[in-house]
Amino acid sequence: MAKTALITGVTGQDGAYLAKLLLEKGYTVHGMLRRSASADVIGDRLRWIGVYDDIQFELGDLLDEGGLARLMRRLQPDEVYNLAAQSFVGASWDQPHLTGSVTGLGTTNMLEAVRLECPQARFYQASSSEMYGLVQHPIQSETTPFYPRSPYAVAKLYAHWMTVNYRESFGLHASAGILFNHESPLRGIEFVTRKVTDAVAAIKLGQQKTVDLGNLDAKRDWGHAKDYVEAMWLMLQQETPDDYVVATGKTWTVRQMCEVAFAHVGLNYQDHVTINPKFLRPAEVDLLLGDPAKAKAKLGWEPKTTMQQMIAEMVDADIARRSRN
Ligand code: NDP
Ligand code: GDP
Repeated sequence: MAKTALITGVTGQDGAYLAKLLLEKGYTVHGMLRRSASADVIGDRLRWIGVYDDIQFELGDLLDEGGLARLMRRLQPDEVYNLAAQSFVGASWDQPHLTGSVTGLGTTNMLEAVRLECPQARFYQASSSEMYGLVQHPIQSETTPFYPRSPYAVAKLYAHWMTVNYRESFGLHASAGILFNHESPLRGIEFVTRKVTDAVAAIKLGQQKTVDLGNLDAKRDWGHAKDYVEAMWLMLQQETPDDYVVATGKTWTVRQMCEVAFAHVGLNYQDHVTINPKFLRPAEVDLLLGDPAKAKAKLGWEPKTTMQQMIAEMVDADIARRSRN
């Protein structure tokens, strides 16, 4: 019989790629959706990737405990992927309470709903490399100590340990993927890669001249969302639940990423990137570099897309999108 999955955060970047992957594998996919007054624009990513009509949408919000419990009772999914969050580090200083409630306590609400209503379901938690923050080791693995540096990272760390705790306390099949930054043409426009690739498209098309950025020296281990959702699925196919780092094992500065993006259309980033202190953060994560050895050994997972290939795909997609509009 076809397996059933519930994805929270289905309208986000990872939700779209994961829904596509699960549908291709024959799953019945339920996607949890927040009620919005702008319902007509919700689901743009799902339409872009071609899965909108194949998803069964369910109304729900991570803040609504009772609703989550009723949803679990009704659906009895085989697998639950908890991708929903206030996911932007920058906004988490402006909205620390909301970020703590949704990204942190929202995960507890999900875990409770699973524990009480469908404890047999396998649970995936979207943990984040941001939890390493002020990194305690030059290459981060599952055993590197955490030191979160933003309200977002603090909330994710709480949610991470709650996932581990529910596994150990109640025997839930709960796994956490500690995913390093992953991007795609569906990445939110406020994140630095997409902000840059969209600006490159606008500049190339003569619609704008410069782009304002913050810290160009921060280093990130950037992979492709399409590759990373496969790791999520693989985690839930294991007999035993566990936590895994998902990364490429390579790191690049924001400056290098800009160089690649502009060079893809024959431009020099130095002619177009300007620094605006508005985009500097109160506390920065200077370096993220993940060691995916455990995911490779136990899941047989490896990244397939290089940073350069991914940035080229994003620039091309933004040029196509802007040309259409
Ligand atoms: P997005 O920001 O693209 O998507 C977030 C999703 O969460 C959206 O579907 C959003 O819905 C939903 N959401 C927000 N608040 C609530 C709420 N209160 N109740 C229900 N749903 C809500 O994130 P990504 O797809 O990039 O990331 C997926 C997950 O992985 C997130 O938890 C993120 O923090 C985590 N992560 C991401 C990394 C990355 O590099 N992309 C790295 C490591 C972890 P709506 O459309 O209505 O706003
Ligand atoms: P994060 O790692 O989840 O915070 O992902 P982001 O894409 O938001 O940021 C990655 C890095 O780019 C961080 O170190 C930011 O400080 C840096 N950065 C530099 N300029 C910008 C900018 O204009 N916007 C964003 N979002 N990040 C920027």
